[in-house]
Amino acid sequence: MLVMKFGGSVMRLPEDVLKVIDYLEGQGQGNVAVVSAVKGVTDLLLDMAYLASEGKEEELKNKFLKLREIHDEVMAALDLRGAIDEDLSILERALTGIFYLGELSPKSRDFVASFGERLVGNIVVKELRRRGINARFMMGGEAGIVTDDRFGDANPLYRASEVYIRNRLGALLPDTLPVVAGFTGETQDGRVTTLGRGGSDLTATLIGAALRADEVVLWTDVDGLLSVSPKVVKNPRVLRKVSYREAIELSFFGAKGMHPKFLEPAMRKEVPVRIRNFWKREDPGTLVSKEEEVKEGIVKAVGLREDVSIITVRGVGMIGRPGTAGRLFTVLGDHGINVLMISQSVSESSISLVVDGKDSSMTSNVLEDLLLGPIFSEISVEDNLSVVSAIGAGMRGTPGVAARVFKAVAERGINVKMISQGSSEINISFVVDGKDGVEAARAIYEEFKL
Ligand code: ASP
Ligand code: MG
Repeated sequence: MLVMKFGGSVMRLPEDVLKVIDYLEGQGQGNVAVVSAVKGVTDLLLDMAYLASEGKEEELKNKFLKLREIHDEVMAALDLRGAIDEDLSILERALTGIFYLGELSPKSRDFVASFGERLVGNIVVKELRRRGINARFMMGGEAGIVTDDRFGDANPLYRASEVYIRNRLGALLPDTLPVVAGFTGETQDGRVTTLGRGGSDLTATLIGAALRADEVVLWTDVDGLLSVSPKVVKNPRVLRKVSYREAIELSFFGAKGMHPKFLEPAMRKEVPVRIRNFWKREDPGTLVSKEEEVKEGIVKAVGLREDVSIITVRGVGMIGRPGTAGRLFTVLGDHGINVLMISQSVSESSISLVVDGKDSSMTSNVLEDLLLGPIFSEISVEDNLSVVSAIGAGMRGTPGVAARVFKAVAERGINVKMISQGSSEINISFVVDGKDGVEAARAIYEEFKL
């Protein structure tokens, strides 16, 4: 049994949706499909929700027309006119409500955002049924995805979802082809939530894990995960096999449009995930699975993340004072700041954090306001830096890898500002000046012949 997810990157144009339907018709009942919104539609919906709350009637109308047009084109080609009239009228009423109240709560924003998947999913199902396939459309909640109520970036409740998915979705197999609206879930009291941008991948792995699928196939428009960003070398190699942990590291380095948590459910249940290019179907793509199955090489890939900042806090007051780091991370967490790397000096008199460039000033302001004085005496900020990371599970227990990494970088005269190696020893990451990032990544690429 396969769980097949079709991303917005596959469905860019109306005719792409037809190709997906043809493909699903060929797969038939007994598998599960997860669909994302047509490319650009989620953004369009979020704009519409905002425009409604601002009372911008004209602009809102234009966007609504555009939304209708995109889907009308698909339906016209399929001879399915009117298939989503009911959905569109529900959406229109929701927007009208927002418009008159002049208020956009996260809850109503999620309700609106969920229509991208809902519209295309309904079209796909109606056409498949017309072709004699017993397809059934389900919103994420109906399929069993239960979440907390962090609207906009809801977290699935894993245990509950597993049970519900089996009971609701699993019970329909193998005589049905369920088509699930990706990205969407439901709180325990039945409100629609969304799982965060790119969330359809997570929908697919949640379902795949709960039903112990043979494989979760993420259909996209790229050949798979790459050994290095095309920014660093022209034709990077596609990685054929990586472990869950390696893939998680890689996705942090911008394997494009992926949800940060999408591999977790698959990893827990050891369900293999394959990232494939829908337009090159003869191509096997990248297989993500258990480490024992994908062991090869030492360093498999190099990641480059540009525009990061180092924030360093100093103060002898931290020495021997347990809980200092805890306070620091709590404060940052409360402000939604994501820390990418950490390093503390042995003397305990300083802690350096790496954050995304866009979070730099917020991080230093927050720390200054809350912790300067009682805990730190000094905060310094360095912007325009890059993180480079050598990634590969084969590094674990292989001596000399770090030496090779830093020798290769040093030979190019590049200064390293900060280093960190995760305790899982699956990556060695370091920070360099922004202008040296690409060159440092290339040094590793060449040293390990990636
Ligand atoms: N449609 C949603 C988004 O654009 C979810 C997804 O594509 O996975 O983020
Ligand atoms: Mg996506």
